[in-house]
Amino acid sequence: MRSLLDRGRTLKTNTRTNKREPEDDNAMAARRKLIAGNWKMNGLKADGLDLASDLAGRLTGAGTVAFDMLVCPPFPLLFPVGDAISGSPLALGAQDCHAKTSGAHTGDVSPAMLTDAGCRYVILGHSERRADHAESDAQVAHKAAAAHKAGLIAIICVGETEAQRDAGQANSVVASQLKGSIPEGATAANTVIAYEPVWAIGTGKTATPDDVKAMHAHIRAELAGKTADPDAVRVLYGGSVKPGNAAELMAVENVDGALVGGAALKADDFWAIATSCR
Ligand code: PEP
Repeated sequence: MRSLLDRGRTLKTNTRTNKREPEDDNAMAARRKLIAGNWKMNGLKADGLDLASDLAGRLTGAGTVAFDMLVCPPFPLLFPVGDAISGSPLALGAQDCHAKTSGAHTGDVSPAMLTDAGCRYVILGHSERRADHAESDAQVAHKAAAAHKAGLIAIICVGETEAQRDAGQANSVVASQLKGSIPEGATAANTVIAYEPVWAIGTGKTATPDDVKAMHAHIRAELAGKTADPDAVRVLYGGSVKPGNAAELMAVENVDGALVGGAALKADDFWAIATSCR
């Protein structure tokens, strides 16, 4: 007889007892690592094509790997890079989008334009956009909702500044960013969270594995009620991830991959980070 708790879970046959039992929760919640490269405002067409073709070739040649790999070039490179990696397992993403489908928004790019270019992902609310363009949590949530509607996976970035961490506010800042930036309808299939302490981005400083573990556990707990399936949502770490520290960071509990800036611009470094995933 199935207990109330077991209802809704998938049943499988226990080969030892030959009884039908609920699937192991941990196995159901297994999260495949995502290694995402944020190229920011770097590289011209030839550079982007070289880098993306190199990575696509390595990924194709590697066969079965323990990670998904994504590159997020600047807007003008989306179409050529998308064409170059089409048919390979390397995924394409953008670094931002507008919340509207079309219209009088000079300089902006809609989610539908991104899917048209072959994108599957879009980074939203990166701290550089929050700082340079004064993007609020509400704007990030609107953009994420529009991205979902267009079929894109939104990588929503959160993270505290050094002053906020020093003041003991890291957890409350991140909780408030999650609350404000995750739209209705978010699921593990359409949303990835990237924890990026602002003080670690492009600085060579990284959070310690213990701090990352504590923050990712906090984020996982905060996802309850904000996403349909909080245990299945991937939570990436970002902030000066390099080949030398990747294995240690990727082994931390609740770290489901990395969002990488500087080291994503060199195929050898980015590949070394990805292959450090076990
Ligand atoms: C980023 O831009 O998201 C980032 C983490 O940059 P870096 O890896 O250079 O710190």
